[in-house]
Amino acid sequence: MKVNADLNRCQGHGLCRMAAPEVFELAEEDGHVLVKMPSVPPELEDAAVTGVEACPELALSLRD
Ligand code: SF4
Repeated sequence: MKVNADLNRCQGHGLCRMAAPEVFELAEEDGHVLVKMPSVPPELEDAAVTGVEACPELALSLRD
């Protein structure tokens, strides 16, 4: 599973990081999301999905 972030949508709420800190980080410079783990291993897929679904800006997407 792969995660993609649309930085034009991201508003830096940080809900993705709260849900899956192993996968998502926030950049210190501008507060936008950084996908630490663009290729998500199976054991973190549930957390990654929760993080993607938590984003109120629909900035995150998943693909296989
Ligand atoms: S939850 Fe969405 S808007 Fe907030 S930091 Fe994560 S990607 Fe950006």
